[in-house]
Order: sequence, then C-alpha cells, then structure tokens
Amino acid sequence: MIKENIFKIKERIALVSSALNKDLSRIRIVAVSKGRSLEQIKEAIEGGITDIGENRVQEALTKYNQLFGIRDSVFGARCSVVGTCREPSTENREPIKWHMVGHLQTNKVKDAVKIFDLIQSVDSFHLALEIDAQAAKIHKVQDILIEVNVSGEQNKFGLKPDGVIEVVKEMAKLKNINIRGLMAVAPVADNPEKVRPYFRKLKELLDKINELRITSYGLRVLSMGMTDDFEAAIEEGATMLRLGRAVFGK
Ligand SMILES: *Cc1c(COP(=O)(O)O)cnc(C)c1O
Repeated sequence: MIKENIFKIKERIALVSSALNKDLSRIRIVAVSKGRSLEQIKEAIEGGITDIGENRVQEALTKYNQLFGIRDSVFGARCSVVGTCREPSTENREPIKWHMVGHLQTNKVKDAVKIFDLIQSVDSFHLALEIDAQAAKIHKVQDILIEVNVSGEQNKFGLKPDGVIEVVKEMAKLKNINIRGLMAVAPVADNPEKVRPYFRKLKELLDKINELRITSYGLRVLSMGMTDDFEAAIEEGATMLRLGRAVFGK
C-alpha cells in the first residue's frame, strides 16, 4: 500500500515534469510520519523514501532510536557507524535524513540537534540562537530552513514575510547554523489554485534573499507543497515536498 502510494507520487511528479519540460529528478520527498508506526516508516524506506519528517522531538527520538537500534542517540554514534546502525533493508542506500517540520520549543533544541539533519521550522531569531548554541556544544553545523507564515494566518507559526530578510541577516552571522532555504505551510484549501499565490510569494522571497547576497552562500531549498497541493508547489519552484497522507494513506 505505502509502496504503491510512493510509486503514484513519483508518477504524478513525472507528469508535472513533462508538462513543465523540466528535470525534477532531484526533488526531495520528505515522508511526514507523525502518528505513524515504525512498521509504516520501514515500508516507506523500502519503497525508496530517504527523508523522514516528524513534528515532535520526543516522538522523533523514540522512532529514531528504535529504527537505528541504539539507546542513546549520541551525535556521532550514529552514522559514523554507517551500515551497522542502519536497518538491513536500507543497506547500500543513502542514509536516512531526519527533518523537524513542527514547531520547535527552545527546551527541546538540545535533543533536536542530536538527531535532525534539517530543522525546517525555525521561526524566530531566539530559536536560531539556541540551535546555534546547542549545535556548537556537539561540534555540529546544523542545517535549517526558515519558516515563513506566507498567508498571515493567526494560528500559523512562521516569520512574517516582511521581516524575513532582517532575520536572515542576523542568523547568517551564527557559526553553527547553516541556512539552507525557506519553508512554508500553506492554508488548507479545497483547491490548490487558492494556495498557489502563497507558494509564489515564498519563491519570490527566496530569490530576493539570494539577489541581495545576504548570505555568503546561496539558499537553495524551498520546502513547500503537501498532499493536497504538491503539483502546484512544484510548478512554483518547490525543491522539497512534505507528504504525509500521500505516502501513508489517510
Ligand atoms: C503533517 C504535516 C505535513 C504533511 O501533511 P499532508 O497534508 O498529510 O501531506 C507537512 N508539513 C507539516 C509541517 C506537517 O505537520
């Protein structure tokens, strides 16, 4: 079932690819597995998923430890032992990357930096400072995305679009974080066309940051598009999709 779902997602991406006449083979699919079992995650990995997204640190830690069979997720213990710490079914494949996609509280940062390859939900300078400090303690440079509240909805996390550039300037000075790009959660809509303008807005913001050369490196990642709207997101420039139901079912 999950493997078929992944196959269908890839078919749908291929259709967009030929319509746009653009190579989309490097688009990353993050399987968002909140509330899903370890068995379901394993099936997704067997189906070719290389990126796992979670939105609670504790749930992610538990699954991470079970999946890699180590009790204490000490940074470094992990895949410096590549092959031994991985599931047999994933041998000879890319190591699994873990993504934090939910709101991150500062008191959870210490654990978060131990397991996540990419923290997608950085929504304040204060949080970035804490990530920088905790990452420094374990000699890590933590990849992050900045979450932007493109729709301005009250109930959403994320920086206001017009404040992002200033914050990027400040965050770029932090030595133990690396800003990879931007992330947004679009509003729930019955029709993807309604959220397309928000995707466009995020892409414009990314382009502007790069034009202004605020960071010494380019920001390449645009994490947008979920189960109900990922085709529109790709058309507007998404490089990373976060898919829950499309992978695991309703
Ligand atoms: C759950 C979740 C997703 C996946 O949602 P689906 O609509 O099931 O694809 C993506 N991003 C975030 C931040 C989530 O919490």
